[in-house]
Amino acid sequence: MATFDLENIPGIGLNTKNKLLKLGISNSRDLCFHLPVSYQDKTKLQNISQLNHDDFGYIECEILNKKILYKPRKIMIINAISNGEKVSIKFFYFNPGMIKIFKEKNFVRLYGQIKNGLYGREMIHPECEVVNKDTKISNTLTSIYRTVKGVSQNKLRSFIKFSVQNIGDEDNDINLKKYGFDEINLLESLKQIHFPDKSIKKEDILPGGNHPARRRLIKEELLAFQLGMLSLKERRKKSKARSYKSIGEWTKNIETNMPFNLTGSQHKVINEIKKDLTETSPMMRLVQGDVGSGKTAVALMAASLVADKSDQVALMAPTTILAEQHYLSTLNFFKGKESQIALLTSSTPSKERDKILNKLFLNEIKIIIGTHALFQKDVEYADLGLIIIDEQHRFGVNQRLALKSQNSNKKYIPHHLTLTATPIPRTLSMSIYANMSISIIDELPPGRKEIATTSMGMNKKNELIKRLNEACAQGSQAYWVCALVEESDVINANPIEETFQEINKNYPNLACEYIHGSMKADQKNKIINNFKNGVTKLLIATTVIEVGVDVPNADIIVIENCERFGLAQLHQLRGRVGRGDKQSNCVLLHNENIGENAAKRIEVLKGTNDGFEIAEQDLEIRGPGEIMGQEQTGVVPFKYVDLVRDSKFIEESTDLAKQIISDDKKLTDKLIQRWLSGSIDYADA
Ligand code: ADP
Ligand code: MG
Repeated sequence: MATFDLENIPGIGLNTKNKLLKLGISNSRDLCFHLPVSYQDKTKLQNISQLNHDDFGYIECEILNKKILYKPRKIMIINAISNGEKVSIKFFYFNPGMIKIFKEKNFVRLYGQIKNGLYGREMIHPECEVVNKDTKISNTLTSIYRTVKGVSQNKLRSFIKFSVQNIGDEDNDINLKKYGFDEINLLESLKQIHFPDKSIKKEDILPGGNHPARRRLIKEELLAFQLGMLSLKERRKKSKARSYKSIGEWTKNIETNMPFNLTGSQHKVINEIKKDLTETSPMMRLVQGDVGSGKTAVALMAASLVADKSDQVALMAPTTILAEQHYLSTLNFFKGKESQIALLTSSTPSKERDKILNKLFLNEIKIIIGTHALFQKDVEYADLGLIIIDEQHRFGVNQRLALKSQNSNKKYIPHHLTLTATPIPRTLSMSIYANMSISIIDELPPGRKEIATTSMGMNKKNELIKRLNEACAQGSQAYWVCALVEESDVINANPIEETFQEINKNYPNLACEYIHGSMKADQKNKIINNFKNGVTKLLIATTVIEVGVDVPNADIIVIENCERFGLAQLHQLRGRVGRGDKQSNCVLLHNENIGENAAKRIEVLKGTNDGFEIAEQDLEIRGPGEIMGQEQTGVVPFKYVDLVRDSKFIEESTDLAKQIISDDKKLTDKLIQRWLSGSIDYADA
């Protein structure tokens, strides 16, 4: 049987289908690969007297009586007896079906946490099932899945069971024995993971566990990922791009207008890019460089070469603030070319937008800067030669989907240049970015002083504000970053407004403004520009300023509730200062009671300014399993692999991938199809 639609599974109607879609499940294969996140052991009934407070247990009991109270709050209390010992069961939420279950004299099996309550042993909100004397006990551990409202664990489990039992031929016939995958085949792996025999230890079969079934899937996924990377690289090599080498007005322009000499590192990287641009296959290059290392100048040097051949460049930034800034520095670098440079964001008025789109189509614009608005469907380029993506880790995978050709000139594919401030350790980047060439800017512009980082408790907040006020009076400019519980475009802005009010009340002469993500773009720009021009001395902000904001005169940054941020983010934030030749300071303001890891993070930041080192330390502190969140890298489409935890398999799978891609095209395609078909990075060539 081939992979089949959800409708063919007993119990799935349109309603359930839509719910499953929300889980990313759209056919029987997806169900097979929807692996449990944990397990319950219901393979034997336990004796309640052997369970300690807080233990999870599986018990059987006879119902004695129940009462339902409505005050002081709604509650159903059931008294029962299990192996001669009394136990009470409590539900704060219940429906008529549950009231029925707990009928007097019913035998019920419960799975849940045991508590030692005031009046004896109790279970709160256990899972329950009415049984009779011959109801069988399960032979397998009970798998627990990530699910959505309206699809119960039991239902989902039965859908998965059906799918695994009827697994598609195309999934069953991939044979990797020859390549050392001889321990256990895919079908067997799936069976064991979904329905582990009771002899299997829970910790072995859990995600990250050492059971051969889990290992097999991880190794196979890694292998498929590497194959995907390699075939992407091959496809790129075969496709055509324009080659750029001759220097013209744009290059001369930027060379004259650059207010500084490039560092050796910047030179090295520009030369690497230049070399790629002379090729007739598209460049796919990642520039890693710490915050403030001067990636923008490097990117614009590359842009000038493309513009010199009368082709176009699109520079995409993750936020409008950053796009606006890049736009301004681009205008500065290319004086006299203003009419051929444009800014396009979601807040560009539609009339203006139409004009820009028209000019883009006519190739009257050479360099366009913007947000993802640059790659909306109706944006058509005449001759797009180079796409630059700045601060790439901030992008969701979806946005990069749009970065396909978009060229009306379909014969060529644009070169790709990505800039990132190293959110991940070097050892890992090699495997994640296996399809890219990597350049590293490992030097800061001359004259930069190390940012001095200190930490203090919240009780010093007032004193700190006083000192800030004094510093600002003497010419300093400062950022004050507030951590919000939930930072997104629709935020609750209260914490910043509160801090603003507090400072404003006590120091009315301190020129202070605040900014957050949910403000209108115009307003944000105005506030950033006021700060840039020195009109504002203190800028209170959310993490909207995290990436790219470049105000060289700013020399102090306070990060309030720093314990709520991750290391990479703290480092990015700190990088807002230390951009000029002044000595800069970073103050990490923390709550009195912070966890061990938060304390370690603070120590790391105090100890070093080196982004690479911070990335490595980040890994150590967080440990496996926490670092590779999709939102953090934006590029890791793994189902099961955790690159940190599973790094021991990386080398092996890289070698194997090289062998398989040259030996067996069919197998390569099958594996990519199985593991990566839905993943856009591979759909794009
Ligand atoms: P990032 O790598 O974080 O994107 P930017 O490109 O924003 O860094 O550069 C940071 C600051 O350093 C900017 O103000 C920029 O003008 C300046 N800069 C870049 N290169 C040099 C250099 N070689 N010498 C002096 N200043 C530089
Ligand atoms: Mg930057």
